[in-house]
Amino acid sequence: MENIKSDYEDGSRIRISPGTVNHVDIMPGVTAREFKDFQLEKKLNIPANVILEVVQMISVVATGCHGVGYDVKAPSDYVVKMRIMNAKGNLKTFQNEDSKMFKAIQANFGCFGVIYDMTIELKQQDIVKVENQYIKLKNIFYDVEQMKKIFEENMSVEMFWFPFNSERPQVAYKPEDDEVWIRVINKEGNEENEDIKQKDYYNRKDLIDLMSEESLYLMSPTLAEQPSITPLFSWISFAMLKNLIYPTGPIYQQLPNAVHFRQNIRMAPMYDMEFAFDLKNYHQVKKIIEVVVLKVQHYKEKGEYPLNIALEMRMMGYSDALLCPASIGNPDYNGSRHVLFVEVVSIVHTDGWERFCKEVALEWMKLDGVPHLAKQWDFIPGINKHIYERMKGQIGEFKEQLKKSECDPEGMFLNETLKKLLQL
Ligand SMILES: Cc1cc2nc3c(=O)[nH]c(=O)nc-3n(C[C@H](O)[C@H](O)[C@H](O)COP(=O)(O)OP(=O)(O)OC[C@H]3O[C@@H](n4cnc5c(N)ncnc54)[C@H](O)[C@@H]3O)c2cc1C
Repeated sequence: MENIKSDYEDGSRIRISPGTVNHVDIMPGVTAREFKDFQLEKKLNIPANVILEVVQMISVVATGCHGVGYDVKAPSDYVVKMRIMNAKGNLKTFQNEDSKMFKAIQANFGCFGVIYDMTIELKQQDIVKVENQYIKLKNIFYDVEQMKKIFEENMSVEMFWFPFNSERPQVAYKPEDDEVWIRVINKEGNEENEDIKQKDYYNRKDLIDLMSEESLYLMSPTLAEQPSITPLFSWISFAMLKNLIYPTGPIYQQLPNAVHFRQNIRMAPMYDMEFAFDLKNYHQVKKIIEVVVLKVQHYKEKGEYPLNIALEMRMMGYSDALLCPASIGNPDYNGSRHVLFVEVVSIVHTDGWERFCKEVALEWMKLDGVPHLAKQWDFIPGINKHIYERMKGQIGEFKEQLKKSECDPEGMFLNETLKKLLQL
């Protein structure tokens, strides 16, 4: 992708759109890291983005990926223009003025052709206060009022449960005693704030992230071969996370640095299944999490550890992009305006991963969730039918716009997974 030739006058691959001050043109091959650096340099930012830096921004948008923020939308929602090379080899420009068509374009999974570039509208750079908190699982996941309060009173909240972090020898393990790591972000302060973290902080943090990811990479095969060490591994990793990598207490950062808070995650490859849920009420959120907590406990009693890294949970605003799972929160499709994303993450080659995911997914489907299509989902029994029924309106509209665009009449850009998903 990085070899697609730029037609920008200066030959760059990322630039401020001519005639604008806050629109950014981005070509294929530009990574989230390059986009972050560009935002910091121009003192602009997108309100939310994926955590990892190694992926290409065009891919993040094409697959409807998301970040975190109670009222914040997906990166696809901030795209205002896209140029696509269609099946006939013609370069077509799509703009957000044609709103029906653009909702299909925003997260198009490559169905319309090869994306040549896109334009994203950014905001003035935000300075944010980032706080790491550690709260017992029973006092957050099982305290519905507390969970509602923390999500609704803050701009951005991300929670991680690393199972077995409270495990001690000779004491019966109770997941509710585990601590949950909570990252709370709010806009606070401005450029003048002397406490904003500077280069020396990021140099040190990069090093810590690198060493911890490298350790995880080196440990991963042993963990996959000897699952019984999972609780000990989790206990040690969590102690390091809490005391060294993300200690409690506030820090001030530019938003892009807070969004991409974890470097080098590509080093240790992970399995990852994620579902989106329309946020109906917080009792439902509790049920969604309980599915995983009870399964983890059930398998632990049998000496099995299919979830060996974390459950992660993020709240978002809804999406207008038709194929982004956050569209289930869209009021146009009877959504509540907010979406909960919950994912489970284990190291690759973890024993029993697929079975665990299938069991969790079947429960999550009953709780009205749909999978994040950029992660693992196509092995779940009955999943295509479920997605089609749950997102019938959005998928129907997507197909109509795809046909109307005449970008790909022969289906050149569709693979088997997309055909099954869209029922084409
Ligand atoms: C460790 C890890 C963490 C992650 N964290 C998050 C997260 O926080 N939030 C989230 O939502 N997702 C997350 N993801 C998912 C990730 O953002 C997506 O899988 C992303 O698409 C991967 O980007 P890539 O550059 O590797 O994509 P690729 O594999 O290169 O492309 C992905 C897809 O994008 C489309 N595409 C790419 N370029 C073009 C083009 N020029 N024209 C047409 N179509 C194109 C195609 O459909 C392609 O199949 C994570 C993934 C990993 C591995």
